[in-house]
Amino acid sequence: MDGLGAGIFDEPRPEPMSERSAMDQLEAQLEPLFKDLPGGVPLFLFTRPGRNDVLIAATRFLIRAIREVSPKVTLREFDLSHKLARQWDVDRSPTLLLDPDRYRIRWLGAPLGEETRTFVEALLMIGREKSGLSEESLKVLNKIEERRDIKLFVSPSCPYCPQQAVNAIKAVVEKPDLFSLEIIDILANPDLADEYSAQSVPQTFANDVLIAQGAQTEELFMLSLQRMEQQTLFIPDIDAEEVQADLVIVGGGPAGLTAGIYAARSGLRAVVVEKGALGGQVATTPVVENYPGLTQVGGKALVDLMVSHALEYVKIFQGEEVLDIQPGEPIVLKTNRRRFTARAVLLATGANYRHLNVPGESRLSGHGVSYCSTCDGPLFKGKKVIIVGGGNSAVTEALHLHNIGVKVTLVHRRDRLRAQEQLAKTIFSNNIPVLFNTEVKEIRGKDRVQEVVLFNNSTKKTSTMAVDGVFITVGYEPAVELAKKIGVDLTPDGYIDSGGRHRTSIPGIYVAGDVEGGYKQIVTATGQGAEAAMAIFEDMIHPYWKAREIGG
Ligand code: NAP
Repeated sequence: MDGLGAGIFDEPRPEPMSERSAMDQLEAQLEPLFKDLPGGVPLFLFTRPGRNDVLIAATRFLIRAIREVSPKVTLREFDLSHKLARQWDVDRSPTLLLDPDRYRIRWLGAPLGEETRTFVEALLMIGREKSGLSEESLKVLNKIEERRDIKLFVSPSCPYCPQQAVNAIKAVVEKPDLFSLEIIDILANPDLADEYSAQSVPQTFANDVLIAQGAQTEELFMLSLQRMEQQTLFIPDIDAEEVQADLVIVGGGPAGLTAGIYAARSGLRAVVVEKGALGGQVATTPVVENYPGLTQVGGKALVDLMVSHALEYVKIFQGEEVLDIQPGEPIVLKTNRRRFTARAVLLATGANYRHLNVPGESRLSGHGVSYCSTCDGPLFKGKKVIIVGGGNSAVTEALHLHNIGVKVTLVHRRDRLRAQEQLAKTIFSNNIPVLFNTEVKEIRGKDRVQEVVLFNNSTKKTSTMAVDGVFITVGYEPAVELAKKIGVDLTPDGYIDSGGRHRTSIPGIYVAGDVEGGYKQIVTATGQGAEAAMAIFEDMIHPYWKAREIGG
């Protein structure tokens, strides 16, 4: 590399004080991770002044903080006109190449926000030369013989994206000769997102074929990569490592995390298993203003606080999906990676987005139809969208879209909002247009959303409206798939029946949070989690349990 000339921006620049203290904070977080990094990680940053300057500055700042704690990470920066840019086919600013002599991994944009986690994981994997893939994933990956060029669309505000991006990086680190990866930040590259009609994140393409929408478990990602289409079911062939616990908590949202803290503090060996992003719905809530003690906090920031608190007490198996639960003594759970045995299981599986179920919705999902404004909102800056619903989510997310420069109209089927008054008022004070008594009957567009068909249920008139996006926030359905499989009783409304006391119809199986019904607030979910953990503890020390343990 030396013969190719020094980077043009190698000289450190003086920093203002506030930047220094932000740098100190970042370094304190990074130091333990990079302390013993065995191998070097050369980074090459390609930039062009005037093209995404803010992203360039932020990328430099992040890398500088990493270099402060690890001399193993090196950075050279070049203008897009440099011969290396031509050699490596780089024409976007900023573009970051990670150890390009060994791997074909590049970032188009800046690894900021949620993506910083992905970036740090990528550096650690490269420095350790280890993908850390599970045995099951390796088996699948070893079946792939042809080249796969992966493109992954992400946004810095998408909490689901790092899981998918880390899957892709693991694949490339494991098989650098076969796989390449472009992580494409949609903020910096809206034209590419447009070209691929990738209007939700994460979206994964291999050899330009869409192979996944949303985040997947590691094994499902590898299977989708092998089969070149989205896979939703992975059945492991072997029983891997077995984990024994007193309590397995299924679901890492506020209820599950709180239950973990309470159970462990009672002396139970508790673990949390979460197939997707931790935090559940809260992770994608732009702002929370009614969690006591925190007047205003970002949903993801609140989740991060809860997760770090829970990690002090319990192990969290993230990216693992519970596929099967066999009640008994012990209860046996099977995930995509291993078996767990437990004395009790807490179902804290939360809820899934409710769909409108109108023509065009599922076909255009990811192509203008979205259920997550924090993830996908940035793509619609300056564009016209509707948000459907009248509850707290619709109002909170409409405000978020409005604040990031999206032209949003709220469409609600009734003549008044369901949202809390305090929130509802902000819609009007921000002059966000609202269409009351209006139902969405169809979402139209060839390969992306172009218009919606609206029906005014007061005047009975049908009209069309040209839009670029449709955000659907019409509530949630309890996630009861596992519960149904085990055969626990459900309420007539479809929640897990517990009589409000967290004990289901099957001994040893408990429930908490949104899947149990009741008021669906963060504070009630955490309360349910705490109560359930205490109920489980009481049941375990109750004489009835003791008698059963000694066979009495
Ligand atoms: P929600 O409160 O159940 O409201 C759903 C909204 O969607 C309602 O306005 C409903 O209309 C409408 N809707 C339902 N099905 C529809 C359909 N098929 N077509 C058109 N519209 C439909 O759901 P959410 O707003 O997602 O909130 C879920 C829970 O989280 C709630 O308990 C909420 O309080 C809580 N939450 C709290 C906060 C906060 O406190 N900051 C923020 C977000 C969410 P109708 O009004 O006609 O029923």
